[in-house]
Amino acid sequence: MFWRGFLLVVCDICGLRGARVFQAYSGLRLCGECFVESVRSRVWGEVERWGLIGPGDSVLLAVSGGKDSYVMLESLALRYKASRLVGLSIIEGIPGYNREDDVRALVDFAKGYGVDVVVVSVRDYVGLSVYEMVREARSRGLVESACTFCGLSRRHIMDYYARMLGASKVATAHNLDDEVQTLVINMLRGDVIGVVKVHPLSPHPEGGVRRVKPLRKVYEWETAAYAMLRGFRFQETECMFIEENPTLRAKVRIALYDLEREHPGSLLRLLEYFDKTLQDAIKTVEPKGSTSTCSRCGALTTQGRGLCKLCELLERAGLTEPRYTRLRLSVKR
Ligand code: SF4
Ligand code: ZN
Ligand code: ZN
Repeated sequence: MFWRGFLLVVCDICGLRGARVFQAYSGLRLCGECFVESVRSRVWGEVERWGLIGPGDSVLLAVSGGKDSYVMLESLALRYKASRLVGLSIIEGIPGYNREDDVRALVDFAKGYGVDVVVVSVRDYVGLSVYEMVREARSRGLVESACTFCGLSRRHIMDYYARMLGASKVATAHNLDDEVQTLVINMLRGDVIGVVKVHPLSPHPEGGVRRVKPLRKVYEWETAAYAMLRGFRFQETECMFIEENPTLRAKVRIALYDLEREHPGSLLRLLEYFDKTLQDAIKTVEPKGSTSTCSRCGALTTQGRGLCKLCELLERAGLTEPRYTRLRLSVKR
């Protein structure tokens, strides 16, 4: 819970400044400075605990301009040399969503920490924006959610830039709420591989760049409070396709919010329990078999697949030619 201007109770940590945030799961009332420090320490602690960023790593930070990406960028920039970090901001091309001034603000913010941000659009990379892909696919009768086009395109672009820029890790700003939602959804679906993938020590495909989530122990409300206390100017506009997020995720999100409200700390304990329980077992999981390359765009894909998931989706949507051409040209060989 975030209190604006609450000054009657002193901070439980420093005992000096007025408390501004009540961390229900820990029972602590914290001043702005101590709260911000507690979030950063949790990010750094999680990174160190699982070796998410090792001594030789250079990291591509996937930053959208939302509150979570600001928190990730600042926390990591305060800990690691700027020369080891580079941001990647992907413009999906969704009307009203990608505002130029928000992207500018993000680039300037990163520059303040000496971190460069590469700004790239889905249209430049795939040949069509997310909005255009969805519109064209629907005009051909394919009812696939916009989030599927968007997610696959973004993943493709992240992998491509990670390889091109020589990054050994890709960091995304998924928070604790996102992580637990994914865990529960995979459990409800009986998707064992999906469950294993949530663990930070999960094996990743050979040749692929490992994804890491430094904010996985920070609640979403905490990233919002952090961003407000630090005065970040983050993007708040919602995507017009937000309603198309899978229904199960929406239901799980609501159920977990209710659970957390009634039993503060439930999400954190659930993820901690999962991390600890699988910690030893996960070391025995065989790394995913070798990968092959997509015959159309050259991206890495699961062995045995002719086309990667994005090319397959675009083909089903009838979007192979003539506009869908730039992908192949832009892949580094
Ligand atoms: Fe992309 Fe869906 Fe998120 Fe919109 S709501 S930005 S389409 S993933
Ligand atoms: Zn304090
Ligand atoms: Zn492909």
